[in-house]
Amino acid sequence: MTQKKFLDNFRDEIQKGFVSDRISPNNIAELQKYKRKSEIPSMENFYEAIENFENKKTFELEKPSVGYFCNIVPEEIILACDLHPVRLCCEDQVCAQAGEEIAPGDICCVIKSICGKFYGRLYENLNLVIIPGTCDPKTKLAELISPLKEIYFLDPGRDSDYLENAAIWESRYTELFDFLKKRFHKNPGRTQLISACHKTNKRTEIFRKIYQLRTDYPDSINVFDYYIMIYASFFMEIELWNDFAEKVYSQALEKKKTQNKPRILLVGTPVIFPNFKIIDVLEQSGLAMATDIQCTSFGRFFNPVEIDEDTESGIIRALALKNIAGSICPCLLNLEKMANLIIDTVNQYNLDGVIYYNLRLCQVFEIQTAILRQILKQRNIPFISIKTDLGKEDTGQLKTRLEAFREMLESHRK
Ligand code: SF4
Ligand code: SF4
Repeated sequence: MTQKKFLDNFRDEIQKGFVSDRISPNNIAELQKYKRKSEIPSMENFYEAIENFENKKTFELEKPSVGYFCNIVPEEIILACDLHPVRLCCEDQVCAQAGEEIAPGDICCVIKSICGKFYGRLYENLNLVIIPGTCDPKTKLAELISPLKEIYFLDPGRDSDYLENAAIWESRYTELFDFLKKRFHKNPGRTQLISACHKTNKRTEIFRKIYQLRTDYPDSINVFDYYIMIYASFFMEIELWNDFAEKVYSQALEKKKTQNKPRILLVGTPVIFPNFKIIDVLEQSGLAMATDIQCTSFGRFFNPVEIDEDTESGIIRALALKNIAGSICPCLLNLEKMANLIIDTVNQYNLDGVIYYNLRLCQVFEIQTAILRQILKQRNIPFISIKTDLGKEDTGQLKTRLEAFREMLESHRK
């Protein structure tokens, strides 16, 4: 049974010590700053959706809401149960400072932010939280927030080889499906799973058009709008997101213009609003982020669910193939896949260089940096790794490094 009441006997003590009055991260001013940079009128829909979410209006849904982290949790299974999935991956400085009390010391800022949000009572109206066993801190997170929320711990293991593990993943996903049905008194089956896959596949179709367009014309949808759309997908109803994104795509087609900045592949830690420091600096340094390999954007949207056998178990296997075997998360064993993906993406889209972006104290991204650097060096692919945190203090230093990288790329082109 993977639904556990961790720390249940100490709930009162922990709540007494740590639960604080609502913290109030105010990201609206930041949001407006990026909105002013947008040249696409229909992006307004996404900015407004985020503003509502930040003001906590979007959570007041008729459906129960299920929070989750990471790509290995299958959104489609939550949707099939007629529940509203909300992705909770978070990089917020104010929340990270609040989370310092619960997860002090050398823990990554993502875990601190998440703890800050939960203990600051910003997720009161979630009905359940699904936590995957990706990295070690995420695994422990299941325990840390269990005094506040009902938790479902999903641990499919860290070997991403499909042929070896398909049966295990199918049983883990089936257990989750059965649990959600029972917990929320629902009775979905094959039809609801297929319908959920159609929704996410439609999103993939639109995302791919946007991704392809930006590889040729990065300025058609500026980098801030791109990540604003990604962030809005964390909590928006999928069909509404699809509708808004389609409008953005049509308007972006009219903005196609060739530019001469070095074209970058951004790889590594996901960029999540409000933590836009890396893309701010990238833009200020005269680089164009033409494409990315990150779990919240490319990793989540690029591949469709491919159903070969439309039985319930066939669909669940197809979800595992997409979400776990196809995962680019560094917590899983897939470094060779990642290296090949980077090389293929650079070659396919004729990119000038790779920025490998990592948040301080995240060991899983950090540990593979030297190997990736060496592989890309042998392929003559320019590479720079950037390690930073949520603060703004190192902005000038990062800009200097990225400007030097841009100059190197420009001379490489000649
Ligand atoms: S990189 Fe891995 S651990 Fe990090 S958010 Fe993505 S799926 Fe989760
Ligand atoms: S993958 Fe890295 S940044 Fe994300 S929660 Fe784990 S340690 Fe933190």
